[in-house]
Amino acid sequence: MQGLREKLDFVLQKIERARIAYSRHHIIKLVAVSKYSEVEKITELYHCGQRAFGENKVQDLRDKKQEMTLFPIEWHFIGNLQRNKINLLLDLNPFLIHSVDSLELAQEIEKKCALQNKSVRILLQVNSSYEESKSGVSPEECVEVYHQILQKCPHLKLEGLMCMGAHSIKIDAIEKSFKITKDLFDSLQGVGAKTLSMGMSNDYEIAIANGANLLRIGSEIFKSSF
Ligand SMILES: *Cc1c(COP(=O)(O)O)cnc(C)c1O
Repeated sequence: MQGLREKLDFVLQKIERARIAYSRHHIIKLVAVSKYSEVEKITELYHCGQRAFGENKVQDLRDKKQEMTLFPIEWHFIGNLQRNKINLLLDLNPFLIHSVDSLELAQEIEKKCALQNKSVRILLQVNSSYEESKSGVSPEECVEVYHQILQKCPHLKLEGLMCMGAHSIKIDAIEKSFKITKDLFDSLQGVGAKTLSMGMSNDYEIAIANGANLLRIGSEIFKSSF
């Protein structure tokens, strides 16, 4: 059985190999998704140099952040955001919200930001696998919604796209969902898109091969380590 440090090193090596194969000039950041995990393990990873952590529930983010105020951690929010949790999330000053999945949600966040006179960094989530179980705007409406958010939401710093790979054992299907997102991302370069959040434990090497520069990896790092 491996410890956390070994698991992290293993993942970092795989990321590095895929990154070099894609491009030596490509810079990638890893968000360690700590939703399965307690603060002890987060602390241990912090001491291994990991600084960015992701949570998918606002209350969990709050609890863990509160327990770890002494650590300069970047907290990412990656989950479904309910309207009635927006204020709570904003109070926690998340580093980046990956999961803004509609113009309506963006406008809700905009309203709360305006009232609190603050801004927040966000990504627009795209449902590039066309799965009903997944949230996100459709690839067809993505560019339009992206521009709408830029226009209508001055307190939001929209800086790119997020997607989840197709839920499939077929590499082709997963690849396709990443390619669709990458093409959309490329078409948004002119309006400042710079972050492409895609790739989880089962598919991050495919995501890197398709241009991901922000990875969200949980179970491969945290599961069944002691
Ligand atoms: C849980 C989760 C992840 C991490 O998934 P793993 O398969 O455990 O790596 C990434 N992104 C989102 C949105 C998640 O909810």
